[in-house]
Amino acid sequence: MIKYSVEAGCCFCQECQYVCPVHAITMDSKGAHIDEDICIGCGKCEKNCASEAIVRKEI
Ligand code: SF4
Ligand code: SF4
Repeated sequence: MIKYSVEAGCCFCQECQYVCPVHAITMDSKGAHIDEDICIGCGKCEKNCASEAIVRKEI
């Protein structure tokens, strides 16, 4: 199963939140956070993250 997670380098732009079709992304003091139970693995957040802070992973 393909999932995505936010690693180092988030600049709090919130672009990923705007493009996520299932609202799996919230912001906290460290930056964006993806709820893997909600994420459907579409990859839109990764494509739209200018900071390349989002990584694809297979779980
Ligand atoms: S798009 Fe990237 S830099 Fe912007 S809030 Fe999301 S993870 Fe952070
Ligand atoms: S991969 Fe798609 S569903 Fe998952 S957090 Fe990113 S935009 Fe949302």
